Amino acid sequence: MPEIELTPTLTIPEHLVGEVQTKLAYVDERIIQAEVAGSGDMIKLQLFQEADDETVHEIDEKVQRVVTSMVKGSFKPKVQVLEDFQDRPVPYRLDPHDELLARGELNQEATGIFALGPLVTNVIEYFETRFLELAGSFEAAQHRFPTLIPASYMERVNYFSAFPHSLTFATHLREDLDVIDHFAQHAACNEHGALNTSRDSFASTQTLLSPAVCYHLYFSLADRSLPKGQVIATAVGNCFRYEAINLTSLERLWNFTMREVIFVGPKEFVLDNRELARQRMREILGEIGLAYHVESANDPFFIGEFRKQVAFQSAFQLKYEIRARLPFKESTLAVGSYNYHQDFFGRQLNMTLEDGSPAHTGCAAFGLERMAFAFLAQFGLDPQNWPPSMQHIWS
Ligand code: ATP
Ligand code: ZN
Repeated sequence: MPEIELTPTLTIPEHLVGEVQTKLAYVDERIIQAEVAGSGDMIKLQLFQEADDETVHEIDEKVQRVVTSMVKGSFKPKVQVLEDFQDRPVPYRLDPHDELLARGELNQEATGIFALGPLVTNVIEYFETRFLELAGSFEAAQHRFPTLIPASYMERVNYFSAFPHSLTFATHLREDLDVIDHFAQHAACNEHGALNTSRDSFASTQTLLSPAVCYHLYFSLADRSLPKGQVIATAVGNCFRYEAINLTSLERLWNFTMREVIFVGPKEFVLDNRELARQRMREILGEIGLAYHVESANDPFFIGEFRKQVAFQSAFQLKYEIRARLPFKESTLAVGSYNYHQDFFGRQLNMTLEDGSPAHTGCAAFGLERMAFAFLAQFGLDPQNWPPSMQHIWS
């Protein structure tokens, strides 16, 4: 594979290396791998095919734009660690991915899309019972939300400017007999799996695949006063975030499942319950024996919004992540988060408290596939090595 090396005009500080590297995936379709190398003063890109000077120049210009936008004037956010159980002894050290594939427990349908077999499903079901126990401790009302979400909803909460890169659009053929007949007779996929259908056969995009669960609750409460001034709800749902060349194994999926416990009400109500959720999860994760820590974090905003939003989220401690240990690569993976959105959704959606002021919102959100993956990475696939309280789920 042809590789090019670029020199960023600004050195990328260590704390931004991961974030910049992730965003390089969206710079140009010809990039198949991106790495920030050296001490942040070199960018290595692997391209699909040999590039002429003009192409390199074009890519270089876009890379510099990403780097400048994310690095210029940025400062290292103070990371606050709220819990640290990374040293818990765990019995396994290998990457479970290959063994799961070999056992037929994972079937990769496409990039970032996996079907899961019974072992992984049982581990997920176990975590689900624990999350439902958490939700039950708050007497959270159970909801079911659609997988699709209207574009107009997403517009109302500024999602398009914050996370444009990860959106997934849903469409259908135009209601036109000729278009449908033509499709029925000629639709075929090329060697890359892409349909040969022309874009004007599709209707305009009014719908997306939902990127998070809690938005659906906020939309159901929009333009009115909250019943009893507060709401606690829970739901599990399919979520979609297109993560380009960053999509790998169960760690980073295009289509994944999230369980959320959601709080809507006055500021103190949301903050107190977010804190309570964290403390109750600490008990549950302690019983399981998972090695993890919880630290302040930020959402993966796109480059234009990145610097401003990250500074804002850090300053107000809006997001804490549960980062589970992945012993096989001595790194960690975010398996869940405790979020506080202040009154952002309350204002955008005109969701009000009894006194007419905008409601505050927060959620505890858990990625089911990532939970299972981190568990299997720490405890392996043999139930004999699992915590005794979990051995019954798979025998
Ligand atoms: P928001 O604050 O926008 O509602 P959220 O808190 O609901 O976001 P995140 O914190 O972004 O959502 O994600 C929650 C969890 O979902 C993550 O901790 C992770 O476990 C899982 N997750 C997120 N993105 C992916 C992905 N691409 N693949 C697999 N799991 C993911
Ligand atoms: Zn949420």
